[in-house]
Amino acid sequence: MQTIRQTLIDLLSGEPLGARELSRVLGIREEEVCDHLVHIERTAGARRKKLTTLPFACLDCGFVFRDRKHFTRPGKCPRCRGTHIETPRFQLR
Ligand SMILES: [Zn+2]
Repeated sequence: MQTIRQTLIDLLSGEPLGARELSRVLGIREEEVCDHLVHIERTAGARRKKLTTLPFACLDCGFVFRDRKHFTRPGKCPRCRGTHIETPRFQLR
């Protein structure tokens, strides 16, 4: 039987996916997905892989969150203070 974490690693090795999509596929809460992502990032080096957060943008002004290290979505845009922010997507490569 595969563990949730292993399934998550397999999923992330394919198409980039957002935390919400992952939580739906795995049947766990989004916060749990984030906990797993933190662990996967920490151990990715041992597999010669890297967990990448794809740049995501503010839907109000187009500001791109390039250097964001956190796995959760920011509440507000630092430029326009808007709250319509794209969901970050993750990929293991
Ligand atoms: Zn903005």
